[in-house]
Amino acid sequence: MSTDWNIQAPACTCTACQKTFADGDQRFSLLQFGAEGYARHDYCPACWAEKERAGATGVWQGVFRAPPPPPEEALKKETAESLLRHMMETEDERHGNAIFILAVMLERRRILVERDVQTRDDGMKIRVYEHKKTNETFFIPDPQLKLAELTHVQEEVVLLLGGSPLGAPKPAPQAAGQTAPTAEAKAEAKAEEKTAADEHGSSTDGV
Ligand SMILES: [Zn+2]
Repeated sequence: MSTDWNIQAPACTCTACQKTFADGDQRFSLLQFGAEGYARHDYCPACWAEKERAGATGVWQGVFRAPPPPPEEALKKETAESLLRHMMETEDERHGNAIFILAVMLERRRILVERDVQTRDDGMKIRVYEHKKTNETFFIPDPQLKLAELTHVQEEVVLLLGGSPLGAPKPAPQAAGQTAPTAEAKAEAKAEEKTAADEHGSSTDGV
């Protein structure tokens, strides 16, 4: 297992009798932890019995909602959800914090519902979310961010979503068609820069 997070396909049939769930059906769900990690199983009320629960690490009950066709609009712009999916696909561990923040954002927007929290043997908390519309199950490790880290990661995520933190205006586009500066012009610019720095008593940062 290269990364800890994963998305499991929607569970649309009963594990025991293979009946396909219809919109509004009661459904019992459980998690089992095996060699392949967490596996989710769903049961119709007729098949759900105490024996099914034996060895389960998590159990919950819900109502099945038939997944709608994917909205076309979702393909056009990056949303918190598409960003989350892209990041999970990369299997890049550096995205762990951002993935967690995005999952929390989607939970607040009632797109994901937290169904369970598992604590692995190594102490890592795994939050189990269910997508309300598609029925997919998202397994998201909780990096247990400190408040300062949380703020930092949130700002990063807002930037990735194309927003500007604190309503800052977008940076002005670079002057187009700029010609390569000659050595003379460079020296002149440098002199100007120095003057400006002296006048305002501020240092120039960046180039
Ligand atoms: Zn069944």
